[in-house]
Amino acid sequence: MLAAVTVRVRFAPSPTGELHIGSVRTILYNYLFAKQNAGALVLRIEDTDQARLDPRALPSIYDGLHWLGIGWDEGPREGGPYAPYVQSERLALYQRHAQQLVDQGDAYFCFCSKERLDQLRAQQQARKELTRYDRFCRRIDPATAAERAAREPHVVRLKVPDEGAVAIDDLVHGHVEWELATIEDQVLLKTDGFPTYHLAVVVDDHLMAVSHIIRGEEWLASVPKHILIYRAFGWPAPPMAHVPLVLGPDGKKLSKRHGATRVAEFREQGYLPEALVNYLALVGWAPGTEDEVFSLDDLVARWRIDQVQRAGGKWDVERLRWFGGVWIRRLPEDELARRLDPFLPPQWDRSVVRATIPVIRERIELLTQAKDLIAFLFGDVAPEAALLVAKKRTPEETRTAIARAMGSLSALGSLDHGAVKDALEKIAADLGWKQGDVNMAVRVAVTGTKVGPPLYESIELLGRERALSRLARAEEILRG
Ligand code: GLU
Repeated sequence: MLAAVTVRVRFAPSPTGELHIGSVRTILYNYLFAKQNAGALVLRIEDTDQARLDPRALPSIYDGLHWLGIGWDEGPREGGPYAPYVQSERLALYQRHAQQLVDQGDAYFCFCSKERLDQLRAQQQARKELTRYDRFCRRIDPATAAERAAREPHVVRLKVPDEGAVAIDDLVHGHVEWELATIEDQVLLKTDGFPTYHLAVVVDDHLMAVSHIIRGEEWLASVPKHILIYRAFGWPAPPMAHVPLVLGPDGKKLSKRHGATRVAEFREQGYLPEALVNYLALVGWAPGTEDEVFSLDDLVARWRIDQVQRAGGKWDVERLRWFGGVWIRRLPEDELARRLDPFLPPQWDRSVVRATIPVIRERIELLTQAKDLIAFLFGDVAPEAALLVAKKRTPEETRTAIARAMGSLSALGSLDHGAVKDALEKIAADLGWKQGDVNMAVRVAVTGTKVGPPLYESIELLGRERALSRLARAEEILRG
């Protein structure tokens, strides 16, 4: 626990698309930090880039995070003491703050046209210079500038000092320093009256009393600009942690070309939210022990910001799937049945589905895999002769084995899996077949496929009548 500081952290997505798995990892770290310090987590929507808005973004944030079990305290729908939590609803606030900096001589109106700025950039590029604003409008006297600002389109720029350096002690990256000579007089307020990200993020983090900024590493390069804005307002900059990017297997930032990236896709693929949270926490954090299976509560207890790694975390679908299986096996059986529900046809009898849970839970990593495994219980099967014929056996030999299976199963008092096992073992012994070969032929006959839940249990689930009629059908098929 951090003594004496009221921890307030935030996640501040730009609503430009559906919730991305890389953002979730950053949000998760904020959540863990808030929880373990009895702090508050704030959702703030950074929609200052109006051209890139996507109406699907906000619902996907709410749906995705609720599904994952990540909750927060203040936000656009929740409200809170620092409302509104959507930047486009806070424009007057940013405008007031930009004006304050102009009034105190730390910022100025700039009237340069796009054409002039383009030309300037082209010239600088031709001279192989750093491209940046040449401070042309800094020289206009403030009274004239104010007068022109009342009628001409303009932006507001920060006066960046010529020399010196700014630095932070990042909680992940340690000491990082920037020379001011490399930083231009950045825009704070755009022509349309919207703030830039830099102004809005600083004003909001300060006014919303954010105590720690935990965000993706891609924002580290913006920190010197933010520090200068904090300084101009005379505000202290909060401690910051820039957490590593989530990378694709090729080492580049995880994106669509690597496969699924939207949270909704993982949900549709049948991952348990517990598995995704567990896996994601470990992309960029290592607990320093061999432990790797963590619930959200475990993570609150175990995760530490000073154990977050600097290097980007590589995405590894195999490992994610492995966690999928781990968490499926950890669920109580009734709960697993409940989670499977949306992935199964509504007409399938839920009491039959429930009975299959003990035999399928060891065999699935994704909820979507259950359907094919248990489909044989709900529909007819009509295997092809070629699939039925046992390895190295003729159709006729296979037919004999199936006929024997029919005989012994119909003679059984009860079709529990132990009795089925004994019966099929006897057939293998009598015929001198490998057990696997007998079982495969019977499996194809009763389930229609070569892969599935354990055979003896499958036959028990299917019940005597259906098992026998399917064996009879297979026998017929083999007869040709
Ligand atoms: N709005 C930024 C984004 O969408 C977040 C920046 C920040 O956390 O400061 O990633």
